[in-house]
Order: sequence, then C-alpha cells, then structure tokens
Amino acid sequence: MATKRTTNYRRKKRNKNSLLYIALSFLVAAIAVGVIIVCILAESEGWFDSSNDVSDVSKDVSNEYSEDSLNNSLITDVSYISEEPDESVENISGEPDVSDISDVSDISDISDISDVSDETSDKEPEQNDKTKAYEDYIGIDYAIDMTKYEQYVAPKNEKDFLFLVNPDNPLSKDFVPADLVKCTNIRAGRPAEWSKMDRTANYALEAFLLEAKHYGFDDITVTNAYRSYASQNSLFTNYVKSDLKSDYYCDKCNEYIDVSYEKSKVKNGKCAVCGEKLRRPTKEETTAHVLTYSTRAGTSEHQSGLCCDMHNLPATTSAFDNTPEAKWLAKNAHRFGFILRYPEGKQHITGIKHESWHFRFVGRTAATEMYERGLTLDEYLG
Ligand SMILES: [Zn+2]
Ligand SMILES: [Zn+2]
Repeated sequence: MATKRTTNYRRKKRNKNSLLYIALSFLVAAIAVGVIIVCILAESEGWFDSSNDVSDVSKDVSNEYSEDSLNNSLITDVSYISEEPDESVENISGEPDVSDISDVSDISDISDISDVSDETSDKEPEQNDKTKAYEDYIGIDYAIDMTKYEQYVAPKNEKDFLFLVNPDNPLSKDFVPADLVKCTNIRAGRPAEWSKMDRTANYALEAFLLEAKHYGFDDITVTNAYRSYASQNSLFTNYVKSDLKSDYYCDKCNEYIDVSYEKSKVKNGKCAVCGEKLRRPTKEETTAHVLTYSTRAGTSEHQSGLCCDMHNLPATTSAFDNTPEAKWLAKNAHRFGFILRYPEGKQHITGIKHESWHFRFVGRTAATEMYERGLTLDEYLG
C-alpha cells in the first residue's frame, strides 16, 4: 500500500508537474504570440521608423537645385495671414470640418485617380489615409466653403490672366503687378519681396490650400511668389557666376558637367566616362546650362505675381515629385484656377524642366480645360 501510495503520489506529482509544464508552455507560447503581434503592429504603424520624408530627401537637397531653391530655410510654420476674406482665418485654424462633405452622394465621376492608389498603395498608412480621403472626394464637390472664394477662383476677368511669360514673351523691366498682397501661405522667414502675390491669385491659392489642409496636406507652404525684375536678374547672374567657377566641360563627350549634382562624372580633373582632361566651361556654355533650370530677368513667370512655388520640403527638388502632396496639388489645382505650369515630359514646349512645386493662376475655366486636355499654357494659347 505504502509503495502503491508512493507510486500514486509520484504519479500524481508527475501529473501535477506535467500540468505545470503544459501551463508554463502555454504561458510562454502566449507571451511569444503577444510579442509577435506587438512587433507586427509596431512595424505597420512605423513605431520603429525614426526617419521621415524630410530626412530621406535631405541628401538630394544638397545636390540638386533650381531657380527656386535659393535661400532654403527650414520648414517652420504655416502662417496664414489673410488681408481680405477675414473669416477664412477661422476655417484654417480649426480641424477640418468633415461634416459638410457628408452629403456627397455622387461618386460616379471619379475617373483618372486609379493610378494614384496604385502608386501609393505600398506607402505608409498615414499616406494611404490621405490618398483614400482624396479618392473618396475628388471631383465631387469642394470640401471647404467656397462662397467667398468663387470670385477669385473664377474671376469675371479670367481672360486677363491668360498670357505667357517666357523668353519669347518677356515682361518689361518696369512691369510690376498692379495689386500685390502678402501671400497668405508664405513660409516664415522668406524675403519680403518674394512673399507677395497678385490679389486674385492669392485668394484662389488660399482656397486651394484650405482644401489641401482638409485632406490632411496641412504643411504645404509657399517659398516664392512674386519676384521683381531686379531680383531675378541678380539670381540669374549669381547662378552663372557660381557655375562658371565650379563646373566642367568634356570636349570628347561634348558634355557640360554641373558638379553640384554630377560630381561622380569628374575624377581628378578628368572625365569619368572617357578619361579626357576636363576644362572649365565658357560663359556661353554656362549660361546655356543655367537656362535649363533658371530664367533671365523679364522671362520669369514669377515677375507676373500670378505663380508660386509651394511644397513641404526644405527646398525645391525633384524629391517632391512623387510625394502624395505633389500628386494631390497636381490633380486638384484646376479646381482652384491653377495649373502645374511645367509638367513632366513637356520641357520641349515650356523650355523648363518639370517643376512639381510651381503653380500658375489662370482662372478655373482655362485651368480645367487645360487639365482635362493635358495641355500646357503654351499649347493652350498657341
Ligand atoms: Zn568625356
Ligand atoms: Zn517657380
């Protein structure tokens, strides 16, 4: 009996131990599963991702530039200073009011936005949400109250805004827009002169950026609006001066090398491609090169006061091109009377490389027509 009892006892004890092991195993397994779930969540929410868009592009920023990248101050805050439609300030300060778009019923008119969702589907969740909101409401109605902005977005004198500014159609040295106001979305710290914009264009822009804010694009600011003849002149002259000093020319490849972003093409003063000894470019060669990213005084659209450069990066670079912000702006500009003035693949027509940040006011009728027909202002007026 004693032995039996002992055996029973041992068996019981063993059973008890096994139960304990099983319970412990379950506990360990449960903890492991818990840890895995937390890891997956953290990954998808980007908790471990310390980088952000700005730091990703900072490499490009130092290497690339354009006429708009001068005086690159860091993004500070959006200062919405409104002179005319005073009530708008209230709209801007608060959270986007989603209630006024709840009655949107007709979503059948969404046509060419499928490519946007494809391109951004593998981005971070935050960006997907932005794109989703955009997909849901583009082309249906304005999210913001347009009552006080209609007169600016679609002005009675729309034809007055339809003219070209380029080397073939320069503005005179004395041309100053008649009615410049302080740009409502100018980035803090920008030169005072560049912070002005034509009154009509400015309030159309205010509506445009209010709508952008509604869809979550709340950090887009204007870095350049109006630029005088004199300031464009010194800008261009300085570009030529500095490129003349730093750049190279390969006679064998017959190629201009801008060391600001093609440093790898130079090896100990020789061409990395053919080995030829490089020489400094002539003033003519340098000027021709500068003209691919900047414009001579009188030929810059900025002198018209009708355009602006806006983005959410420290500087204007091609890094902005594929951001959800750039895509949203490009797809919605016409609704507020603006056009993406220098689109991709149209350099042979506009004379200027693609600028995803440069928007020109032309009024909603013309802007919508150009957008729908895929025309540049040059083609539309030509
Ligand atoms: Zn070469
Ligand atoms: Zn510009």
